Amino acid sequence: MEGSRGSEIVAGRVMVIAAHPDDAEIQCGGTVAKMIRAGSAVSYVLCTSGNRGSDDPTVSAEQLAVVREGEQRAAARQLGVGRVTFLRHDDGDLEVARPLLREQLTRLLREERPEAVFTHDFLAGLASYEVCYLHPDHRAAGAAAFEAAFFCAPGPLFYPEQLAEGLRPHRVEAMYLFMSDRPDCHVDISVTLEAKVRAIAGHASQWGGQPDIAGFFGDMARRLGQERGLPLAEAFKVLRP
Ligand SMILES: [Zn+2]
Repeated sequence: MEGSRGSEIVAGRVMVIAAHPDDAEIQCGGTVAKMIRAGSAVSYVLCTSGNRGSDDPTVSAEQLAVVREGEQRAAARQLGVGRVTFLRHDDGDLEVARPLLREQLTRLLREERPEAVFTHDFLAGLASYEVCYLHPDHRAAGAAAFEAAFFCAPGPLFYPEQLAEGLRPHRVEAMYLFMSDRPDCHVDISVTLEAKVRAIAGHASQWGGQPDIAGFFGDMARRLGQERGLPLAEAFKVLRP
C-alpha cells in the first residue's frame, strides 16, 4: 500500500539475499527492523562472507571472513533477524559461482518458504556510476536470487533431486529490489533509522574509519524519502511473479 505515509510491507516470512556482509543493513536495515517489530520473521542469506573486502595486506581472506561473519551475525541479532546462512562464495566471484548459487538459493527458498524476498536490483546502475552500484557481486546475487525465486523454486522440473529429498516447490509473493534506480515502494524508516545505523556501525571492519555514520545514512534516508514526501525512507523496486 503506497500512500503519503509510505508503503507498509506485510509478510509473515521474509528472506534477505545479500552479496556481502553489511549490504542488508545498508540497503534495507530500517525496513527489516520495522517488519520484525510488526511481527515478521526475517532470515538472511549471505552469498559471500566479504572475504576480499579489505585493503590491509596483513589480513588473510580466511581471517577477514571470520571477522565479517561475526559482524554480520551481531548486526542480525541486533535487528532481531533469525536464521543467517553463509554460502561462503569468494567475494568478487559470484558471477563465476552463479549456477551453484542459483541452486543453493532455490533450496533455501523451498526450505524457508518466504512470502517476500529482498535482494539487489540486478538491472540497476544506469543512473549511477558509483562503484557500489557497479559491483559485479551485487548484480550476480540479484540475478541468481531473481531466477531462483521466479523460475526455479516454483518449478518442479528445476533441481528435482531437492523434491525427491522432500522439499516442495515454492512461489514467493513479491520481491523487493534494493539499490534500484526505478524504485516504486518507499518505506518510512523514521522509527528504525537509529537501529539501522547501530547495526551498520557494528560492521567495524568496513565502517570503523567513517566518522559520521549516522549523518551519512541519515542523508541517504532523507534523499530517498524526498522522492515520496517522507522524512526518512528506504526504497525498493517491487516485482511480483
Ligand atoms: Zn556489497
